[in-house]
Amino acid sequence: MSDKSPLKLLCVTAHPDDECFGFGGALMLAAERGIETSVLCFTDGQAATNRGAAATHAELGQMRRAEFAASCRILDVTHHEVLDYQDAQLEFANFSQAAALLVERIRRIRPDVVLTFGSDGGQNTHADHTMVSAFTTAAVHWAAQAKRFPALGPIHTVQRLFYTTTDFFFPGRPSPLPAPWTVTLDVARVQHRKFEAFRAHTSQLPLMERFQSFFEQRASREHYTLAATPHPQAAAHATDLFAGL
Ligand SMILES: [Zn+2]
Repeated sequence: MSDKSPLKLLCVTAHPDDECFGFGGALMLAAERGIETSVLCFTDGQAATNRGAAATHAELGQMRRAEFAASCRILDVTHHEVLDYQDAQLEFANFSQAAALLVERIRRIRPDVVLTFGSDGGQNTHADHTMVSAFTTAAVHWAAQAKRFPALGPIHTVQRLFYTTTDFFFPGRPSPLPAPWTVTLDVARVQHRKFEAFRAHTSQLPLMERFQSFFEQRASREHYTLAATPHPQAAAHATDLFAGL
């Protein structure tokens, strides 16, 4: 399947810094193998609690765009893009327009594997994460269907859609209802660079300081759920997102 062109991975997130702990290990391991990686982030994070030295929402947004770019460089991401959606408002966005935007990107980038949040909204159950999961899920299916958005380029079938999921909860925070995982990735070899990437998000360092020791105990593994594939199959456990591709 992959002898024609190098494999590609697309990761769809909601906020600058989502790419670090949720998906950072998977992104770095893929890059190490020569897989082309893209991260598409829906918002520039203007609604964050931690605001660094930013005086306005727009200033924080600009700061976080630069931090996101720095983090993506540390994670060896090939292409990165921040869209112009409003932070903390994705549940009110036009669903069809957001999905169409992703259909266009999927048909242009032509990824083999797509990563995003699960419908639980991730560790902090953020509604933006749940919406990104819904937009991305619809787009992966619709990108493969000729009758959907025929003007947005030739159809493309993604080989695997994965949701990030978890085997732990944050102490003292509301817990999500996570999907069972089908993939456990051992990312111990690159875990120190997850922290390095997070530290590039200078405006969010207070968050890091609060949770660093908790993260340090858990940063060596990432869990994902296989959510879509063109090949009917029983769920099986794997240790690689690309096995057999
Ligand atoms: Zn987020």
